Amino acid sequence: MDLNGILNKFKEEIEKIKEKELREAKKFFEEVKVRYLGRKEGIIPNLFKKIKEVPPEKRKEFGQKINLLKQEVEKTLKEYQNLLKEIEKEEKLKKEYTDITVKFKEFEAGSLHPITKTLNRIVEIFTNMGFAVADGPEIELDFYNFEALNIPKGHPAREMQDTFYITKEILPRTHTSPIQVRTMLSQKPPIQIIAPGKVYRRDSDPTHTPMFHQVEGLLIDEKVTFTDLMGILDLFLKEFFGENTKVRFRPSYFPFTEPSAEVDIGCVICNGKGCRVCKGTGWLEVLGCGMVHENVLKNANIDVNKYQGFAFGMGVERLAMLKYGIDDIRLLFENDIRFLKQFKPILA
Ligand SMILES: [Zn+2]
Repeated sequence: MDLNGILNKFKEEIEKIKEKELREAKKFFEEVKVRYLGRKEGIIPNLFKKIKEVPPEKRKEFGQKINLLKQEVEKTLKEYQNLLKEIEKEEKLKKEYTDITVKFKEFEAGSLHPITKTLNRIVEIFTNMGFAVADGPEIELDFYNFEALNIPKGHPAREMQDTFYITKEILPRTHTSPIQVRTMLSQKPPIQIIAPGKVYRRDSDPTHTPMFHQVEGLLIDEKVTFTDLMGILDLFLKEFFGENTKVRFRPSYFPFTEPSAEVDIGCVICNGKGCRVCKGTGWLEVLGCGMVHENVLKNANIDVNKYQGFAFGMGVERLAMLKYGIDDIRLLFENDIRFLKQFKPILA
């Protein structure tokens, strides 16, 4: 029996695996394996069955040769099995490969709304000066929104703020001042807060919206003077609009402060020469302020012989419009992406 012939034939056959596709090769491999080693009809097991046909004196040698052949076949099959596994792994990797250098559709980065940017900047400047941020409800009681602020029922100042009433006593706050009242009633002086938030008034035109934002400030301590107020606001406006900003105070009237003032800055559009925005005056009104009225302090149970304070308030939309040169407040609320896209840079 030509055992070498069998081995050569086997090697020749299994060599063909390399020419086949992986799936074909796996199938073919199994076929060859069964043909040579299959228990029932495999070529090599059949050889073992033929041992008894060999003359007794040659049986041992023949048996050893078949064993060597079997070992050789098993060894080769093992090699090819490993080879197939290797190929399979590579193909799998190829399939699962992700090309991370492929250019994806670019996502556009969003930016903060100009109102948010302006509000953040205002808060930043005042917190840097030691003010804490206070908060309060947007739906208020008449007491906090008006009464405690020296605006009793029937007071003409109530007409100045077109209020949305929910009931006679409940309303969406018309200003952030009720936060001052709530703070004074819950804390002992010294008090140094700003109160940013949304406020509501029945108003809608190119410079007014039914909802807008205010930031109010309140400082109460011993020996607080109007000069302190002027210094703080002058510093704030120069921080916000630039160090060369001109600032002036004009006497004014608010029910909750006495004396009261309005604060103007030199027009940021025309640099004081006079334009449409400043109505030819060269000045823009940006803030209201004053020394907290004695009645307001008394309503909050603060000892007026020991403490004084000042308060100020500003419209965030107004400051944003001046800072960014926006001429219609409604643009801020329409959420037109073409408008909002222009505010990518961080507020300087
Ligand atoms: Zn101007």
